[in-house]
Amino acid sequence: MTKVYKPLATFWEKYETKWSISPDWVAERIQVAQPVEKVKPIDHDAPKKEGYTRFVCMSDTHSRKLQIKVPDGDVLLHAGDMTKVGYPGEFREFSKLMKSLPHKYKVVIPGNHELGLDPTAGRAATYNMKGGKRDECLANITDCIFLEDHWVKINGIKIYGSPWQPEFGNWAYNLDRGPQLQNVWEKIPDDTDVLMTHGPPIRHGDLCNSGLRAGCVDLMRAIQTRVHPKYHVFGHIHEDPGMTTDGETHYINASTCNRQYRAVQECVVFDLPNGQFQEEVEHGPKDPIEFPGLAQ
Ligand SMILES: [Zn+2]
Repeated sequence: MTKVYKPLATFWEKYETKWSISPDWVAERIQVAQPVEKVKPIDHDAPKKEGYTRFVCMSDTHSRKLQIKVPDGDVLLHAGDMTKVGYPGEFREFSKLMKSLPHKYKVVIPGNHELGLDPTAGRAATYNMKGGKRDECLANITDCIFLEDHWVKINGIKIYGSPWQPEFGNWAYNLDRGPQLQNVWEKIPDDTDVLMTHGPPIRHGDLCNSGLRAGCVDLMRAIQTRVHPKYHVFGHIHEDPGMTTDGETHYINASTCNRQYRAVQECVVFDLPNGQFQEEVEHGPKDPIEFPGLAQ
Protein backbone atom coordinates (compact mmCIF):
# COMPACT_ATOMS: atom_id res chain seq x y z
CA MET A 1 0.00 0.00 0.00
CA THR A 2 1.14 3.53 -0.75
CA LYS A 3 2.70 5.35 2.17
CA VAL A 4 1.78 8.93 3.00
CA TYR A 5 4.43 10.77 1.02
CA LYS A 6 6.83 13.03 2.84
CA PRO A 7 6.19 16.06 0.60
CA LEU A 8 2.59 15.98 1.83
CA ALA A 9 3.68 16.30 5.46
CA THR A 10 5.76 19.29 4.41
CA PHE A 11 2.75 20.72 2.59
CA TRP A 12 0.55 20.55 5.70
CA GLU A 13 3.32 21.97 7.88
CA LYS A 14 3.41 25.04 5.68
CA TYR A 15 -0.39 25.27 5.50
CA GLU A 16 -1.96 28.68 5.80
CA THR A 17 -5.65 29.11 6.57
CA LYS A 18 -6.13 31.39 3.56
CA TRP A 19 -5.41 28.40 1.29
CA SER A 20 -8.66 26.76 2.41
CA ILE A 21 -10.69 29.04 0.17
CA SER A 22 -8.85 27.82 -2.95
CA PRO A 23 -9.67 24.10 -3.13
CA ASP A 24 -8.60 23.68 -6.76
CA TRP A 25 -5.28 25.38 -6.13
CA VAL A 26 -4.67 23.16 -3.08
CA ALA A 27 -5.73 20.04 -5.01
CA GLU A 28 -3.11 20.69 -7.68
CA ARG A 29 -0.39 21.06 -5.07
CA ILE A 30 -1.36 17.95 -3.09
CA GLN A 31 -1.50 16.03 -6.37
CA VAL A 32 2.23 16.57 -6.75
CA ALA A 33 2.89 15.18 -3.27
CA GLN A 34 0.39 12.32 -3.27
CA PRO A 35 -1.56 10.62 -6.06
CA VAL A 36 -5.13 9.42 -5.47
CA GLU A 37 -5.51 5.67 -6.00
CA LYS A 38 -8.80 4.04 -6.99
CA VAL A 39 -9.71 0.96 -4.94
CA LYS A 40 -12.08 -1.82 -5.93
CA PRO A 41 -14.42 -2.53 -2.99
CA ILE A 42 -15.06 -6.13 -1.88
CA ASP A 43 -17.95 -8.03 -3.44
CA HIS A 44 -21.29 -7.60 -1.72
CA ASP A 45 -21.48 -11.31 -0.96
CA ALA A 46 -17.81 -11.83 -0.04
CA PRO A 47 -17.49 -14.07 3.04
CA LYS A 48 -16.87 -12.19 6.29
CA LYS A 49 -14.14 -13.28 8.69
CA GLU A 50 -14.92 -14.23 12.28
CA GLY A 51 -14.63 -11.24 14.64
CA TYR A 52 -15.25 -8.65 11.94
CA THR A 53 -18.07 -6.14 11.46
CA ARG A 54 -19.46 -5.58 7.98
CA PHE A 55 -20.38 -2.03 6.96
CA VAL A 56 -22.69 -1.18 4.06
CA CYS A 57 -22.43 2.41 2.82
CA MET A 58 -25.08 4.49 1.11
CA SER A 59 -25.87 8.19 0.87
CA ASP A 60 -27.96 10.75 -0.99
CA THR A 61 -31.10 8.69 -1.40
CA HIS A 62 -33.19 11.90 -1.57
CA SER A 63 -36.58 10.26 -0.89
CA ARG A 64 -36.23 8.39 -4.20
CA LYS A 65 -37.28 4.80 -4.74
CA LEU A 66 -34.17 2.61 -4.51
CA GLN A 67 -33.35 0.88 -7.78
CA ILE A 68 -30.54 -1.13 -6.21
CA LYS A 69 -30.41 -4.11 -3.90
CA VAL A 70 -28.98 -3.10 -0.52
CA PRO A 71 -26.46 -5.78 0.49
CA ASP A 72 -26.64 -7.44 3.88
CA GLY A 73 -24.24 -6.48 6.65
CA ASP A 74 -24.03 -5.57 10.33
CA VAL A 75 -24.02 -1.77 10.11
CA LEU A 76 -25.66 0.37 7.45
CA LEU A 77 -24.11 3.84 7.09
CA HIS A 78 -26.10 6.63 5.40
CA ALA A 79 -24.04 9.80 4.86
CA GLY A 80 -26.86 12.32 4.49
CA ASP A 81 -29.35 13.76 2.01
CA MET A 82 -32.09 11.35 3.03
CA THR A 83 -34.67 13.79 1.68
CA LYS A 84 -35.35 16.23 -1.15
CA VAL A 85 -35.73 19.31 1.06
CA GLY A 86 -36.19 17.97 4.58
CA TYR A 87 -39.94 18.20 5.18
CA PRO A 88 -40.98 16.39 8.37
CA GLY A 89 -43.00 13.86 6.34
CA GLU A 90 -39.93 12.95 4.30
CA PHE A 91 -38.10 11.89 7.48
CA ARG A 92 -41.07 9.68 8.38
CA GLU A 93 -40.77 7.95 4.99
CA PHE A 94 -37.00 7.61 5.38
CA SER A 95 -37.48 5.95 8.77
CA LYS A 96 -39.80 3.41 7.14
CA LEU A 97 -37.01 2.59 4.69
CA MET A 98 -34.58 2.15 7.61
CA LYS A 99 -37.03 -0.13 9.40
CA SER A 100 -37.45 -2.26 6.27
CA LEU A 101 -33.71 -2.99 5.97
CA PRO A 102 -32.28 -6.03 7.80
CA HIS A 103 -29.06 -4.52 9.23
CA LYS A 104 -28.80 -4.68 13.00
CA TYR A 105 -27.59 -1.07 13.22
CA LYS A 106 -28.20 1.89 10.93
CA VAL A 107 -26.16 5.03 11.44
CA VAL A 108 -27.34 8.21 9.74
CA ILE A 109 -26.15 11.82 9.46
CA PRO A 110 -27.98 14.76 7.83
CA GLY A 111 -26.87 16.46 4.61
CA ASN A 112 -27.35 19.80 2.91
CA HIS A 113 -30.85 18.89 1.68
CA GLU A 114 -32.17 18.37 5.24
CA LEU A 115 -33.35 21.98 5.49
CA GLY A 116 -36.00 21.25 8.13
CA LEU A 117 -33.31 20.17 10.61
CA ASP A 118 -30.96 23.12 10.24
CA PRO A 119 -31.89 26.51 11.65
CA THR A 120 -28.89 28.13 9.93
CA ALA A 121 -30.20 27.54 6.43
CA GLY A 122 -31.40 30.68 4.70
CA ARG A 123 -33.16 28.63 2.09
CA ALA A 124 -35.35 26.90 4.70
CA ALA A 125 -37.55 29.98 4.56
CA THR A 126 -38.26 29.27 0.89
CA TYR A 127 -39.90 26.01 1.91
CA ASN A 128 -41.71 27.56 4.84
CA MET A 129 -39.50 25.67 7.28
CA LYS A 130 -37.58 28.41 9.00
CA GLY A 131 -37.74 27.69 12.72
CA GLY A 132 -39.92 25.27 14.63
CA LYS A 133 -39.58 22.26 12.34
CA ARG A 134 -36.38 20.81 13.77
CA ASP A 135 -38.06 19.07 16.71
CA GLU A 136 -40.77 17.67 14.45
CA CYS A 137 -38.17 16.40 11.98
CA LEU A 138 -36.04 14.84 14.75
CA ALA A 139 -39.10 13.11 16.20
CA ASN A 140 -39.74 11.54 12.80
CA ILE A 141 -36.22 10.09 12.53
CA THR A 142 -36.56 6.63 14.06
CA ASP A 143 -35.17 3.12 13.54
CA CYS A 144 -31.60 4.41 13.21
CA ILE A 145 -28.77 5.97 15.22
CA PHE A 146 -28.70 9.65 14.27
CA LEU A 147 -25.32 11.40 14.55
CA GLU A 148 -24.89 15.15 14.48
CA ASP A 149 -21.37 16.03 15.63
CA HIS A 150 -21.05 13.10 17.97
CA TRP A 151 -20.05 9.44 17.99
CA VAL A 152 -21.25 5.93 18.59
CA LYS A 153 -19.17 2.79 19.14
CA ILE A 154 -20.45 -0.44 17.65
CA ASN A 155 -18.53 -3.65 18.40
CA GLY A 156 -15.73 -1.43 19.72
CA ILE A 157 -15.45 0.50 16.42
CA LYS A 158 -15.81 4.27 16.87
CA ILE A 159 -17.97 6.03 14.27
CA TYR A 160 -18.12 9.84 14.26
CA GLY A 161 -20.64 11.74 12.13
CA SER A 162 -20.90 15.40 11.12
CA PRO A 163 -23.26 17.03 8.61
CA TRP A 164 -21.31 20.21 7.75
CA GLN A 165 -19.87 21.16 4.36
CA PRO A 166 -18.41 24.23 2.63
CA GLU A 167 -21.04 26.74 1.52
CA PHE A 168 -23.08 25.22 -1.30
CA GLY A 169 -25.88 27.36 -2.71
CA ASN A 170 -27.30 28.42 0.66
CA TRP A 171 -28.46 24.93 1.62
CA ALA A 172 -28.49 23.35 5.09
CA TYR A 173 -25.40 22.83 7.28
CA ASN A 174 -23.32 25.20 5.13
CA LEU A 175 -20.31 26.93 6.65
CA ASP A 176 -17.57 29.14 5.26
CA ARG A 177 -14.29 27.51 4.33
CA GLY A 178 -11.60 28.42 6.87
CA PRO A 179 -12.08 28.97 10.62
CA GLN A 180 -15.81 28.01 10.72
CA LEU A 181 -15.19 24.55 9.27
CA GLN A 182 -11.87 24.15 11.11
CA ASN A 183 -13.79 24.54 14.41
CA VAL A 184 -16.20 21.80 13.40
CA TRP A 185 -13.45 19.36 12.35
CA GLU A 186 -11.56 19.96 15.61
CA LYS A 187 -14.37 18.11 17.38
CA ILE A 188 -13.60 14.84 15.54
CA PRO A 189 -11.99 12.55 18.17
CA ASP A 190 -8.41 11.39 17.48
CA ASP A 191 -9.43 7.73 17.87
CA THR A 192 -12.19 7.76 15.22
CA ASP A 193 -12.16 4.56 13.15
CA VAL A 194 -14.93 5.44 10.71
CA LEU A 195 -15.59 9.08 9.89
CA MET A 196 -18.91 10.07 8.34
CA THR A 197 -19.42 13.52 6.85
CA HIS A 198 -21.89 14.61 4.22
CA GLY A 199 -19.31 16.36 2.05
CA PRO A 200 -16.04 14.96 0.70
CA PRO A 201 -12.52 16.05 1.58
CA ILE A 202 -10.49 17.68 -1.17
CA ARG A 203 -9.55 15.37 -4.11
CA HIS A 204 -11.39 12.20 -3.09
CA GLY A 205 -14.86 11.72 -4.57
CA ASP A 206 -15.29 15.49 -4.90
CA LEU A 207 -15.01 16.17 -8.64
CA CYS A 208 -18.06 18.00 -9.96
CA ASN A 209 -19.26 17.78 -13.54
CA SER A 210 -18.16 21.38 -13.92
CA GLY A 211 -14.54 20.20 -13.48
CA LEU A 212 -14.27 22.00 -10.14
CA ARG A 213 -13.59 20.28 -6.82
CA ALA A 214 -16.12 20.71 -4.01
CA GLY A 215 -14.05 18.98 -1.31
CA CYS A 216 -13.06 20.58 1.97
CA VAL A 217 -9.36 21.37 2.40
CA ASP A 218 -9.60 21.73 6.18
CA LEU A 219 -11.36 18.37 6.49
CA MET A 220 -8.49 16.71 4.62
CA ARG A 221 -5.99 18.48 6.81
CA ALA A 222 -7.71 17.15 9.97
CA ILE A 223 -7.76 13.62 8.50
CA GLN A 224 -4.17 13.50 7.27
CA THR A 225 -2.47 15.32 10.13
CA ARG A 226 -4.45 14.14 13.18
CA VAL A 227 -7.42 11.76 12.91
CA HIS A 228 -6.18 9.15 10.37
CA PRO A 229 -9.49 7.22 10.29
CA LYS A 230 -9.52 3.81 8.62
CA TYR A 231 -12.51 4.79 6.49
CA HIS A 232 -14.12 8.10 5.59
CA VAL A 233 -17.65 7.78 4.22
CA PHE A 234 -19.47 10.69 2.58
CA GLY A 235 -21.70 11.56 -0.39
CA HIS A 236 -22.88 14.97 -1.66
CA ILE A 237 -21.18 14.92 -5.08
CA HIS A 238 -23.37 12.40 -6.88
CA GLU A 239 -21.19 12.29 -9.99
CA ASP A 240 -17.97 11.03 -8.33
CA PRO A 241 -18.93 7.79 -6.51
CA GLY A 242 -16.59 4.96 -5.50
CA MET A 243 -13.61 4.22 -3.26
CA THR A 244 -10.11 5.73 -3.25
CA THR A 245 -7.15 5.75 -0.86
CA ASP A 246 -4.22 7.94 0.15
CA GLY A 247 -2.36 4.87 1.43
CA GLU A 248 -3.69 5.21 4.96
CA THR A 249 -7.40 6.13 4.88
CA HIS A 250 -9.95 4.72 2.47
CA TYR A 251 -12.39 7.31 1.14
CA ILE A 252 -15.87 6.27 0.03
CA ASN A 253 -18.23 8.52 -1.90
CA ALA A 254 -21.34 6.42 -1.25
CA SER A 255 -23.86 8.53 -3.23
CA THR A 256 -26.77 6.30 -4.16
CA CYS A 257 -28.46 8.81 -6.46
CA ASN A 258 -26.73 9.72 -9.68
CA ARG A 259 -26.65 13.22 -11.08
CA GLN A 260 -30.19 12.80 -12.45
CA TYR A 261 -31.40 11.87 -8.93
CA ARG A 262 -32.06 8.24 -9.85
CA ALA A 263 -31.15 5.92 -6.95
CA VAL A 264 -29.12 3.49 -9.06
CA GLN A 265 -25.53 3.61 -7.73
CA GLU A 266 -24.44 0.51 -5.81
CA CYS A 267 -23.63 0.46 -2.09
CA VAL A 268 -19.99 0.06 -1.04
CA VAL A 269 -19.16 -2.66 1.49
CA PHE A 270 -16.17 -2.98 3.83
CA ASP A 271 -15.22 -5.06 6.87
CA LEU A 272 -13.31 -3.97 9.99
CA PRO A 273 -12.02 -6.13 12.84
CA ASN A 274 -14.00 -5.59 16.03
CA GLY A 275 -12.34 -3.46 18.69
CA GLN A 276 -12.29 -4.08 22.41
CA PHE A 277 -15.77 -3.68 23.77
CA GLN A 278 -17.67 -4.08 27.01
CA GLU A 279 -20.95 -3.03 25.48
CA GLU A 280 -21.98 -3.91 21.96
CA VAL A 281 -23.14 -0.32 21.52
CA GLU A 282 -21.74 2.64 23.41
CA HIS A 283 -23.13 6.12 22.78
CA GLY A 284 -20.92 9.21 22.88
CA PRO A 285 -21.91 12.24 24.93
CA LYS A 286 -24.66 14.27 23.32
CA ASP A 287 -23.45 17.79 23.84
CA PRO A 288 -26.01 20.44 23.05
CA ILE A 289 -25.59 21.23 19.37
CA GLU A 290 -24.03 24.59 18.82
CA PHE A 291 -24.70 25.75 15.34
CA PRO A 292 -21.45 27.33 14.27
CA GLY A 293 -21.77 30.42 12.14
CA LEU A 294 -25.34 31.01 13.25
CA ALA A 295 -25.89 34.69 13.90
CA GLN A 296 -27.53 34.86 17.32
ZN1 LIG B 1 -27.35 14.82 -2.67
